[in-house]
Amino acid sequence: MTLDYDRLYLAGGWAEPAATQRIPVHSATTEENLGSVPEAAEADVDLAVTAARRAFDDPSGWSRNPRLRAEALERFAVALENRAAETSRRVTVQNGMPISLAQQFEGGFPPVLLRYFSELATGSPQEEIRPGMLGGSSRVLREPVGVVAAIVPWNVPQAITFLKLAPALAAGCTVVLKPAPETVLDAMLMCEAAAEAGLPEGVLNVVPGGRELGAYLIAHPGVDKVSFTGSTAAGRSIAETCGRLLRPVTLELGGKSAAIVLDDADLASTIESFFAATLLNNGQICWLGTRVLAPRSRYGEVVDTVTDLARSLAVGDPLEQTTQLGPLVSARQRDRVESYIAKGLGEGARLTTGGGRPAALDQGWFVEPTVFADVDNNHTIAQEEIFGPVLSVIPYADESEAVAIANASEYGLGGSVWTSDPDRGEAVARRVASGTIGINGYSNDPTAPFGGIKSSGLGRELGPEGLHSYQVFKTIYRDPSKG
Ligand code: NAD
Repeated sequence: MTLDYDRLYLAGGWAEPAATQRIPVHSATTEENLGSVPEAAEADVDLAVTAARRAFDDPSGWSRNPRLRAEALERFAVALENRAAETSRRVTVQNGMPISLAQQFEGGFPPVLLRYFSELATGSPQEEIRPGMLGGSSRVLREPVGVVAAIVPWNVPQAITFLKLAPALAAGCTVVLKPAPETVLDAMLMCEAAAEAGLPEGVLNVVPGGRELGAYLIAHPGVDKVSFTGSTAAGRSIAETCGRLLRPVTLELGGKSAAIVLDDADLASTIESFFAATLLNNGQICWLGTRVLAPRSRYGEVVDTVTDLARSLAVGDPLEQTTQLGPLVSARQRDRVESYIAKGLGEGARLTTGGGRPAALDQGWFVEPTVFADVDNNHTIAQEEIFGPVLSVIPYADESEAVAIANASEYGLGGSVWTSDPDRGEAVARRVASGTIGINGYSNDPTAPFGGIKSSGLGRELGPEGLHSYQVFKTIYRDPSKG
């Protein structure tokens, strides 16, 4: 049975779409049709932005009433929890994410984010009085920025959606969200949760569509702020538009992070964390450490450990609880990854495992976990984001060279340091040019800012910093002589 939706969640309810085009969705594992949703047209975006604007401008409504928001967001969290199993399942069948990960990231994380940001924004005062240095005082307010256009990719669709929705809604903004066409079925389930939670009319609107619709949305005159996660190429184009419009924008883009193995590392004892930091979600996460930097003194041993890890992975149906590596999201994505594998071979890197399609799986967009040794940091496979299960092991002579190689990248998003001395690891981590980095593991905790530098993006999500990106500061000065 396929999942076919006829209406769009817009302007406080389920609305008839303006046009008749539909977005078909396919299983990454079986390539079968899973269902379809209406493709939003520009007229639907106009309706959504108008509804969001009206909801935001209501003088006693969402943007001005923290209690109303706290109660509605708690109902939303509960409605999502009730759908967590089905959300995880839908993500897994659409994009190939192993179900054990989908349960954690896609089913589990959104309610956590809603509650964290709701408490942060509505449980504490968003204003303070500052005694002045020049006499008088200033009241400093943090106000919601307005109508937010949020655009998300397909790789971790629900968690990334809530990296934006949770702080934006908690701050008092209203949102028009555009999900990626590859993963619209989980987005529709999220709409059902929002409808059940009774979010006030216009507070959240969802417009499924492709890049043209996204470009129309971010440039819409009724939008006050843009939040985008996706490729660096699309991010640049969005930044250009926002620059011209002087519109605030948060960009979470690509990465090519380094996993630095120090000469005292016991990689075998941290191999599960190493897997999570380098190959999670079939290699389709922006912060993964896909350049493994190994000391020349132990190079052969590190190559063997990483190769053994890749060979040991359970590759197969992502709905199986034990699967560690599923298919890539689409035939297009598989072509892209295979073209990088060909480039690696062409540039002289040494393939130690993988490189092809798993022999036992004749359906689905699978690529074998692949490791290249003897990679030079200037090789294409070390410089460009592949977004698949492909690791490059690069040798270095000493710590300074490791840091120099890690930093010789267009990107600066994630990374990790592997060592039996965490203090030494932290000293190295401080020298790596990156927005985030882990010692003997990697994680995005809700309390700490996440984001990149250089071509990995602008601004931060998560933590109080993530909330502040949906707020504007306003100062009200009082002259003491006038009382
Ligand atoms: P993509 O940039 O092609 O698409 C992402 C989203 O943006 C989709 O919803 C798409 O429809 C929309 N879009 C594309 N071009 C647009 C434009 N010009 N204007 C408005 N909207 C546009 O990326 P993708 O292939 O879907 O996702 C993979 C990429 O996303 C990878 O490069 C990955 O590194 C990046 N990513 C980054 C993060 C992060 O937090 N830094 C997280 C996940 C994915």
